[in-house]
Amino acid sequence: MTLAGNRLRQKPVEPAGKTGPPRAADLLAWYDRHRRSLPWRAAPGEKADPYRVWLSEIMLQQTTVKAVVPYFTRFATRFPTVGELAAAERSEVLRLWAGLGYYARARNMHECAKAVIEGHGGRFPETETELAALPGIGAYTAAAIAAIAFDRPAVAIDGNVERVVTRLFAVEDELPAAKPAIKRLAGTLLPQQRTGDFAQAMMDLGATICTPKRPACVLCPWQQTCAARARGNAEGFPRKARKKSGELRRGAAFVVLRADGHVLVRTRANAGLLGGMTEVPTTEWSVDFDAATAVDQAPLAAEWRKAPGVVSHIFTHFPLELIVYVATVAARINAPRGTRFVAIAELDGEAFPNLMRKVLTRADLNRAMNARRRAHSS
Ligand code: SF4
Repeated sequence: MTLAGNRLRQKPVEPAGKTGPPRAADLLAWYDRHRRSLPWRAAPGEKADPYRVWLSEIMLQQTTVKAVVPYFTRFATRFPTVGELAAAERSEVLRLWAGLGYYARARNMHECAKAVIEGHGGRFPETETELAALPGIGAYTAAAIAAIAFDRPAVAIDGNVERVVTRLFAVEDELPAAKPAIKRLAGTLLPQQRTGDFAQAMMDLGATICTPKRPACVLCPWQQTCAARARGNAEGFPRKARKKSGELRRGAAFVVLRADGHVLVRTRANAGLLGGMTEVPTTEWSVDFDAATAVDQAPLAAEWRKAPGVVSHIFTHFPLELIVYVATVAARINAPRGTRFVAIAELDGEAFPNLMRKVLTRADLNRAMNARRRAHSS
């Protein structure tokens, strides 16, 4: 469902003429009419499946609902239970995850599935404390699962909820310092019952009505009690400290194309950025990268051609630019230690992160293959 569609279907909420603190009952009544239909959600009145709730919450970290839906569907189809996910090869999990980003999530998700099988008899624990002890489950995710899957009185605060709460109470402190106050205020809203629905209602309100820009306050069930709306400056909340962005790092990527239609790749170390994912060989990515000597670090000696432009990518902590070098080599060339050749037709089966997909697009493998064929036929 699109945001515009969601809003268009809704009628302005009748002002109730009341003031005082926001009431959970008003939000739950709105949720009963306007809840988003999402593939991981239980139907009204049905019990949620903890496995599907957990899977969706891990995928939704730093990622939009729209991007997550096809991945969730693929994972839930391939691995209908936590046991089947735990029994899978990690390479398959990473391959299915490729393109969703933040790959540590996929590795931790797989570890978590195994921990649920080995340490909890295949059932997710119900409390926030036990959930937070599992791999890849932080405070927010633990609270979300406890509330949504088990109806525990947990306060799950993500960016959407932070926005709603800071507006409702006109919280003047800047993020991230305001987080403890937001948690306390959010706790005052929590109902005695339907805490899972309440958590999802807060998420839906933040995602569809109380949006970062141009919130649709006229459709909001809390419009009469919202302090930011009363002041006429909802968009001014949450207050945010200015972010320091990381320095630009640069490097070079080397795409080696073998005459028999194979590309040289390697697997990144398991720990750290893009851990366990597939990549073409690259130099170090550094602030003081020296483009003039980059080819000296190529994985093998060849006639290197520089592809036009650069590949740009933004990681959470730094932006990156990669120069792409392409070389075609004879079919008899062996892969250097720590690398392997993969047939072009099988590249789709590799766990390439988005950055590497951009590198391969820039390298234009078809053009390189055709150029080599032409050179050998003339
Ligand atoms: Fe957000 Fe407006 Fe509702 Fe306040 S009234 S919570 S600003 S949508």
